[in-house]
Amino acid sequence: MQLLTSKNLIDSGIPKLKQRCEKLILSGTTPLLKVLLVGNHSPSLIYTRNKKIFAQKIGAKCDIIHLSSDISEKDFLAKLEQCSNDNSVHGILVQLPLPEHLIHLTKKIAHLIPAHKDVDGFHPNNLFSLLQGDKGHDSLIPCTPKGILSLMEFYKIPITGQDIVVIGRSLIVGKPLSQLLEHYNATLTLCHLHTKDIKRFTKEADIIIIAAGAPRFFGAEYFRNDQSQYVIDVGINKDQTDKLCGDVDFINVKEMVKGITPVPGGVGPMTIFSLIQNLLLAAEKSV
Ligand code: NAD
Repeated sequence: MQLLTSKNLIDSGIPKLKQRCEKLILSGTTPLLKVLLVGNHSPSLIYTRNKKIFAQKIGAKCDIIHLSSDISEKDFLAKLEQCSNDNSVHGILVQLPLPEHLIHLTKKIAHLIPAHKDVDGFHPNNLFSLLQGDKGHDSLIPCTPKGILSLMEFYKIPITGQDIVVIGRSLIVGKPLSQLLEHYNATLTLCHLHTKDIKRFTKEADIIIIAAGAPRFFGAEYFRNDQSQYVIDVGINKDQTDKLCGDVDFINVKEMVKGITPVPGGVGPMTIFSLIQNLLLAAEKSV
């Protein structure tokens, strides 16, 4: 079994990102990411801090705009607009979830951030590019799918002609990921909570990618026991003992398959890596 960790990919990718960043700085453009964080939701505090650390590691700038949890809608939107209109800003993201009184803005945010600064890749124009077949080399596509693809490419996991099952159909992972893999000529099956018998699909697949948010739910009974399948676990959950775990029952599945991502240390870090790739792309396109 091959353990598909992200560390080697990221370690070897950082010098390339640094080089791109240096080139931009030499030409007078310092890539700048603005992260709007509302309130003190503790996972969000960690996620935003990690984004800043990664951006700084490659020489880019990241400002976290930490707004009070009771900020008014008007003031929040004014902050967003200020970043949108600021020419020194290349990437903007709003850390989700928003507090209860702003939660209705969650879907609108994708429209409020200009497409060329939308490093999360959720602006309708960016999603439409993806739908049209864009593979993310020249456009801003959602970070987790982009990171999963990079991981698959790094480990030379074949995609063309493969039967791939994606479990979970969210806008941030399952849906855009299915589109992206289809552009790489895979045959996709998208499963979700209402799929009648998921095992029927997973047992036949070459690659299974799971983003369900169901801690260790997918056990040995979902996979073939012939070490021929790849399993990519996108889930980041806490179990009953507060331990981080994926959607796959890793201990019981790992010896059955050809390759599997661990949690933590698999897909998780790829999302920030892709975010910073998107920031560089946005900055490069701005000059
Ligand atoms: P979501 O709740 O928006 O969507 C979950 C999807 O999974 C839904 O389509 C639902 O129908 C499906 N689903 C849930 N339980 C299922 C089950 N038992 N069988 C089949 N389908 C099932 O979740 P999301 O935002 O896409 O996140 C999913 C998981 O991925 C979470 O654990 C989340 O923390 C993780 N995640 C990780 C990263 C990363 O950076 N690695 C990024 C985003 C999400």
